[in-house]
Amino acid sequence: MDRTSGFLNEDLERKSWDEQRAIQARRLGEMMTHAAAHAPAIGDLLRAAGVVPSDIRSLEDLARLPVTPKAKLVEMQRDNPPFGGFLAVPLHQVRRIFRSPGPIYDPQGFDEGWGWEEALFAAGFRGGDVCINTFGYQMTPAGMMFDDALGALGCPLVPTGVGDREVQIEILRSLAVTGFVGMASFLLQIGERAKEQGLDPAKHFGLKVAFTTAEPLPDSLRASVEGLFGATVRQGFGTADCGCLAYECHERGGMHLASRAIVEIADPETGRPLGPGEVGEVVVTLFNRAYPLLRFGTGDLSAVDHSACACGRRSPKLRGWLGRCDQLVKVKGMFLHPAAIQAALRAFPEVTSFRALVTRSENRDVLTLRAETTAQDDGLKARLEERLRESLRIGADVEWVAAGTLPADGKVLEDLRKWD
Ligand SMILES: [Zn+2]
Repeated sequence: MDRTSGFLNEDLERKSWDEQRAIQARRLGEMMTHAAAHAPAIGDLLRAAGVVPSDIRSLEDLARLPVTPKAKLVEMQRDNPPFGGFLAVPLHQVRRIFRSPGPIYDPQGFDEGWGWEEALFAAGFRGGDVCINTFGYQMTPAGMMFDDALGALGCPLVPTGVGDREVQIEILRSLAVTGFVGMASFLLQIGERAKEQGLDPAKHFGLKVAFTTAEPLPDSLRASVEGLFGATVRQGFGTADCGCLAYECHERGGMHLASRAIVEIADPETGRPLGPGEVGEVVVTLFNRAYPLLRFGTGDLSAVDHSACACGRRSPKLRGWLGRCDQLVKVKGMFLHPAAIQAALRAFPEVTSFRALVTRSENRDVLTLRAETTAQDDGLKARLEERLRESLRIGADVEWVAAGTLPADGKVLEDLRKWD
């Protein structure tokens, strides 16, 4: 079976990115008219920004509207229950209402899905794959999201939810399951339990493809799961409120933006859209009729990479989850995130421990990387400083310290500036 090529929506996925954006702009225009007329919160939001729906004709126009962060949506729902004025259809057109931590209530209209089909297909799922869906079916939409998507692809599924590894193992074997949907860490636990029972997951199970989301997927975890099961593991990025936003293809190297939503990377302070490669908040506009979201701030950080992908999909790639906005520190006018420092240091195994410090000297920010290393030499120091400047776009001084100097508290970035 060919699991590595082909497209679910060939017409759309192979269109140039400009054409895809033009389609999104048209859908945006239709959505604005409907949402402004039926969702009071969106009407208010437009009035406050001084625009009418017809002013928003292109994706660039969207930047005229403010970002609504998740915390604000929680607040708006609390002040104006139950949906904060975002419901844009009468209640008899609402099929389900989900509750996510916050609390936040997300209504789902009839015939409105979350778009994971495209992601599952790109991950190698094909019609006829018997799957276990280990996401939960209660309260939050995760279980239902993948239930819908697998159904649309023609994949029979067992709604197992999370837990009970013994039964998961029994199902994997009895039904010759070929597809897994859930968290990679849970699949690893299932594999480890199987090994304790004397089974070899690669031999005794027929698992071919696994799709994971809702947690970061380090290379080491992916390699462990792929090795243990002899299966391909691919990941996607999305949220409970928005559904699928991006997903990996066979080639990996980032996650293609899904065609179903407008995903922007925006300055977490001003909401201004950022350019390719710049790290910022993932901001989402959804075309849902029942529950239109306009520049919804997910609080997650990422960046977009526009280089071409060998798979033939034309949408750019999200670099993956790069942390949460509330962990950002602004240094020399640029946002810096602990994960960016960790990523830059990954290429230097000689550096055994490090901590970045932000201080202030003569009214200027200073970034210093204090590092413990097995090879204290000036060549390494220069290479490290160059790497930091390139990947963080902020100059940093490297300072060697004796082994055991740095506290082992896992802290990567410390802001020592005093502003009083
Ligand atoms: Zn690709």
